[in-house]
Amino acid sequence: MHILVINCGSSSIKAAVVQSQSGEVAATLDVERLAPNDAAEALMSINGAEPSSVPADEHAGALEFALPKLIDALDDGVELQGVGHRVVHGGRRFDRPVFINDEVEQTIEELIPLAPLHNPANLAGIRAAKSLLGDIPHVAVFDTAFHRTLPNRAKAYAIPPEVAEEHQIERFGFHGVSHQYVAGKAAEYFRADVRDLRLITCHLGNGCSLAAVEYGRSIETSMGMTPLEGLVMGTRSGDIDPGAIINLLRQEGWDADRVDDLLNRESGLAGLSGVGNDMRDIEQRASEGDERCRMAIQVFAHRVRKYIGAYAAVMGGVDAVIFTGGIGQNSALMRHRISQRLEFLGARLDEDKNRAVSVGRQNPVASFSAEPSRCHLLAVATDEQHGIASQVSSLIMKRHCPTDTERTIPIAISARHVHLTQETVEQLFGEGHELTPYKPLSQPGQFASEEMVTLVGPKAEIERVRVLGPTRSNNQVEIARTDEFKLGIDAPVRGSGDVENTPGITLRGPEGEASLEKGLICALRHIHMTPEDAKAFGVNDGDFVEVAVRGGERDLTFGDVLIRVSPNYKLEMHLDTDEGNAAHLGRSAEGVLVSTEGEAAIQRRRTRFDSAAE
Ligand code: AMP
Repeated sequence: MHILVINCGSSSIKAAVVQSQSGEVAATLDVERLAPNDAAEALMSINGAEPSSVPADEHAGALEFALPKLIDALDDGVELQGVGHRVVHGGRRFDRPVFINDEVEQTIEELIPLAPLHNPANLAGIRAAKSLLGDIPHVAVFDTAFHRTLPNRAKAYAIPPEVAEEHQIERFGFHGVSHQYVAGKAAEYFRADVRDLRLITCHLGNGCSLAAVEYGRSIETSMGMTPLEGLVMGTRSGDIDPGAIINLLRQEGWDADRVDDLLNRESGLAGLSGVGNDMRDIEQRASEGDERCRMAIQVFAHRVRKYIGAYAAVMGGVDAVIFTGGIGQNSALMRHRISQRLEFLGARLDEDKNRAVSVGRQNPVASFSAEPSRCHLLAVATDEQHGIASQVSSLIMKRHCPTDTERTIPIAISARHVHLTQETVEQLFGEGHELTPYKPLSQPGQFASEEMVTLVGPKAEIERVRVLGPTRSNNQVEIARTDEFKLGIDAPVRGSGDVENTPGITLRGPEGEASLEKGLICALRHIHMTPEDAKAFGVNDGDFVEVAVRGGERDLTFGDVLIRVSPNYKLEMHLDTDEGNAAHLGRSAEGVLVSTEGEAAIQRRRTRFDSAAE
């Protein structure tokens, strides 16, 4: 599918017609020097040809002039099927690409205070392109969307929530298209599912950010409410003590514009080195003995290493550290400085491979870790245009793939419960003890047993927690969020069976105690279904869907519901007690899955914004 990808920057436009599967580029358009009231005229270039002048000094006029020329330059047979618009800030409202309708445009406009330089340009591009290409779908792809999965603890700044709420002060993160794209490329390289990997993606270009991509979802990223937080960048400072700013404002008489210039335009590599923001020049001068350039390199690398260590701790381990962006892809020296002494993570640098790295569209991934390494080091060529084109084409394809969205799914609520190995059963209930079935559960072969245990946490104990049978190969304790606070343990949200890297807990039974090293989770809400059901709903094992729950006193839509498919399953959605209570679905008896009156309906991954575009 050929997609026109448009990226309107504050004073430039980059557009390309991209084949969404291969990433091949059929034509490009570059417009520069768009600055109203600037004497210099804007210039455009199609397919890299000699620049010619544009009779407009703003985005809409320039696109009206240049887009028809780009389309004329396409080979016969290349037919545009959609337009993807890169939008910098989607605020809290957009966590995925959406078809653009009036409401979406209005929301992007409302978000201008969060991205005053970029969202107006993005919006002008959308409006101009829609008036020229009104008969094909237009999709907005947001730089912030990939990071909407950050848990609240990572999104929040430690300020009073009323202030955060009133002024929308929270961590949004940026470069989402690139982080998502290179994580996907790394998964392809490993022939693995990205949902099985813990990755640290380092986008090091003129703007720089890191993301912790845990099992396919961004859970931490270094940019915050604005793209100023985090790493040292070309001209941006990244992290700085806010107290220093207060001093400049209060004692030195600086105003906001002066601080803005300092932190966004005069700092980073340019500020530290004094020779500009290009890492190639800085590396050259550092090798010739320039102290400021040496310092710039050291501060840059140190900051990235510091964040890699932090993100490894946040995820409890890493399968690969990925380097991308102009510096990450091209600078063997910076990759070397950043990834030396990461052996404690299991990442062993291979110097020869690092020097030989050469990545691009034809060969997007190169490993430079020594074999074997528990944690791989990869350079990956990012391609945000391709990333946008493929997100747009999958949204368009989903629209053309009707699924059985009317059929409802019964809901059961699962209270806290425990799955045990036979060895743990014997530790708790005595040698040779076998679980005694008390009630069959809805999933074939599963039962609630007579046996109950006490969960012993650092803060409190929870008694009479039902053991489910039959025994399993791993112990697993499933609790709800409220239990977590009661016990005083932080349990990660995980799919059943996924207990690697989870905290342990002590269990007490009538005949003894068992201290589990791992296995405490908050279960990911999920739907069991057979392969036939999956086909009818148009979903696959491991997919995440949204589910609208009806039948409680309060209708509710749950995001991030995991689909689990097996011929042995019966169609049913499982929620924990907190989630059931939130939807007023009634309480379940201790440790037993209880069916409720509720019904769930899978919604295709779409938002209310899509409907008007249909
Ligand atoms: P990006 O914003 O991803 O296009 O990255 C641009 C930055 O990458 C430039 O400012 C350079 O500092 C850096 N860069 C590009 N090529 C090299 C190279 N061969 N060695 C070091 N840095 C490079």
